[in-house]
Amino acid sequence: MSDCIFCKIANHEIPSTVVYEDDVVIAFDDLNPQAPVHTLVVPKAHYENIVDGVPAETLAAMANAVAEVARAKGLDQGFRVITNTGAAAGQTVMHLHWHVLGGRDLGEGLV
Ligand code: AMP
Ligand code: ZN
Repeated sequence: MSDCIFCKIANHEIPSTVVYEDDVVIAFDDLNPQAPVHTLVVPKAHYENIVDGVPAETLAAMANAVAEVARAKGLDQGFRVITNTGAAAGQTVMHLHWHVLGGRDLGEGLV
C-alpha cells in the first residue's frame, strides 16, 4: 500500500523510534503517547485490521513482539494491549496495529 503510513514505517521510508523488529513485525513508539510507554506492534505486510485474514504465523509473531516490547520497556508491573478495529472503534490508521500501553497504573476500566 503505497500511501499507507505504517507500510512506510515498516519499510524505513519514514523514521520511527524502533523498539523491536524482525522479518515479520516492527514495533515503534507512538507519536502521540497515551501512557509513559505507548508502543505500536505492526505487521510489515499490510492488513487493514485483525479480521482481515491475518495469517496465524503473523499473529504469533505479533504476540512475540509484544513480549519483546514488554521486556525492552521493563513493563514488569503489567501493561495493556489494544487493537482498535474500524472507524467506530477509533481506528485512524487502516493498517493493523496493537497498542502496548504501560508504565503507570492503568486502572480497571477498559474504556
Ligand atoms: P488508531 O487510532 O488505533 O488507528 O491508532 C493510530 C496510532 O498511530 C495513534 O495512536 C497515532 O498517534 C499513531 N501514529 C500515527 N502516525 C504515527 C507515526 N508516524 N509514528 C508513530 N505513531 C503514529
Ligand atoms: Zn500499510
